[in-house]
Amino acid sequence: PNRRKYPVCMCLGPQLSDQMVELFEACQQQTSDLARKETCRTRLQKDIQSIYAVARLYLTGSSMNGLGCRSSDADLCLVLKGNNRPDPIHVLTVLQRLFKSLSYVERTQLIRAKVPILRFREKGSDLEFDLNINNTVGIRNTFLLRSYAYADLRIRPMILVVKKWARHNQINDASKGTLSSYTLVLMVLHYLQTLKEPVLPSLQRDYPECFYAFLDIDVVPEGPKRVPPYISTNQSSLGELLLGFLKYYATDFRWDKQVISVREAKALPKNNSKEWRNKYICVEEPFEKNNVARAVHEKIKFDAIKATFAESCRILQDRKDLNSILPVRAII
Ligand code: ATP
Ligand code: MG
Repeated sequence: PNRRKYPVCMCLGPQLSDQMVELFEACQQQTSDLARKETCRTRLQKDIQSIYAVARLYLTGSSMNGLGCRSSDADLCLVLKGNNRPDPIHVLTVLQRLFKSLSYVERTQLIRAKVPILRFREKGSDLEFDLNINNTVGIRNTFLLRSYAYADLRIRPMILVVKKWARHNQINDASKGTLSSYTLVLMVLHYLQTLKEPVLPSLQRDYPECFYAFLDIDVVPEGPKRVPPYISTNQSSLGELLLGFLKYYATDFRWDKQVISVREAKALPKNNSKEWRNKYICVEEPFEKNNVARAVHEKIKFDAIKATFAESCRILQDRKDLNSILPVRAII
């Protein structure tokens, strides 16, 4: 019955769109999944406050942005105010010791990446957490993405299917030199913003008061509540949008000349600055304006990504069946 909520397309037929809705409804994060993450967050915040009295713990990423699956991890940001620029590694080392004494936490592991994180699991479950210190841009962009996710009914199924497709094709792992989920989401939003009849506007342009880059972090989660659904003239079905997305990156987008800017809802010309020079894929972080796709630094990985778009585009155009590019049954 839910299929009737989405636009249908006569030329493509309903099959592909229906398959996308079916996959979305089977995989999307459930209220109970979020409740479990939230319970853990509350407990952790209380335990952390025994050391850092005024610390605040925020749930971020796909758990909060409306684009999560049942299997998504929980991203956490610990905000330590006042304490001027604490060393994240130091704080994470202190937390690692604390977490080892907690009955509901196991397998803590400190990861010294550009943004260092403490990775751990809820004891006896497969729920995984990634906790960072003061990386507040992640809180801002989580609530920006959440506003996009709910601006049009088609966004959440569209992005979930693209994430599953990318994962299945092994191009969704920044630690292996391919695309992070965050990069993929921005790529989908960019495509939807730049259609002749856009499915999305620039929310940062239309609602600057909600997404001001220096907004007090406590009020950032209120942003999405003040953004109404976008009224688009584009009535494309989910199937048409998925095909269009693959085609856009397989043939239209100029990787060597363009920078994806969701902030401006357009492709910007690639200039010679350090951020974009010699980078295979350029996707601007909407608040900090750096390149979120810098993990793609090997030509072989870049070529694999482009080949995946081209191959899937060709197959889907021909077959018009989601199973031809993503085995739906195996994933549900
Ligand atoms: P998944 O469902 O696969 O876990 P996700 O939406 O949680 O997807 P990730 O790529 O794991 O996506 O990133 C988690 C969050 O971390 C993002 O939602 C974003 O808030 C933040 N983030 C990730 N990469 C960057 C980046 N390069 N710059 C700023 N924030 C980032
Ligand atoms: Mg995540």
